[in-house]
Amino acid sequence: MARTPYVGGNWKMNTDRASAEALAAEVALGVVPGVEVAIFPPFPYLIPVGEAVLGADARAAAQREGARPLVKLGAQDCYFEKNGAFTGEVSPEMLSDCAVQSVLTGHSERRHVLGEPDELVNRKTRAVLDAGLGCVLCIGERLDERKTGQTDAVNERQLRAGLSGVAPEQMSRVVVAYEPVWAIGTGVVATPADAQDAHANIRALLADLYSPAIAASTRIIYGGSLKPSNAAEILAQPDVDGGLVGGASLKAADFLAIVQAAARRHR
Ligand code: PEP
Repeated sequence: MARTPYVGGNWKMNTDRASAEALAAEVALGVVPGVEVAIFPPFPYLIPVGEAVLGADARAAAQREGARPLVKLGAQDCYFEKNGAFTGEVSPEMLSDCAVQSVLTGHSERRHVLGEPDELVNRKTRAVLDAGLGCVLCIGERLDERKTGQTDAVNERQLRAGLSGVAPEQMSRVVVAYEPVWAIGTGVVATPADAQDAHANIRALLADLYSPAIAASTRIIYGGSLKPSNAAEILAQPDVDGGLVGGASLKAADFLAIVQAAARRHR
């Protein structure tokens, strides 16, 4: 089954307003058809970045007849309640109101720096989907877990927990990001074979949890030190449907080179 490649740019706690707008516009003008591209700026810049993308979209459409740049606006996190006394938190409904189309859940920095347990990741995932948004559910093992042979067990635990209560008909809005923690922001990247192994096992688990058809249509993307120099080889693996990009998403040229590698992957 042909799966449209997906490439997300997780800007983390980087950029300022002006550089965020400029980066978004540059990305929007440079994306190629055939890849779903999303950018995940910091919360305060969601609205100006959304506007910068729209402005760039309109310019690109005027310049290139028939071309529809596909940059989607994403958020890096949310809370699972709609509203109420949750100081500092932001709901999926509020994000939707700001034109956000997709939200990351379970990013390793939220799990391991900010202490989010599986159950909280699951509540956020369900809230995002119940609000009608797309969700990029991130899973992946730490270095100590990898060294002790627990990669598949950790992925299984995080995937089962993260998707608990997610209905089959919501799965078309879920992208699973396999992001080995030891590869995130470290410059160390999984080998193409290791990434393929983990992705194939995740897909088999999705078949068990849902159905072979849902497993075959769900995008499973790789994250962890993806760069223009290593993207083509990793994204060429049969079960790797794109990437979640941190550091390299802060430079439009690098991010767009990874988007182009993803586009080539499915030709
Ligand atoms: C990420 O933050 O999801 C990520 C993959 O970061 P980096 O590309 O910098 O490793």
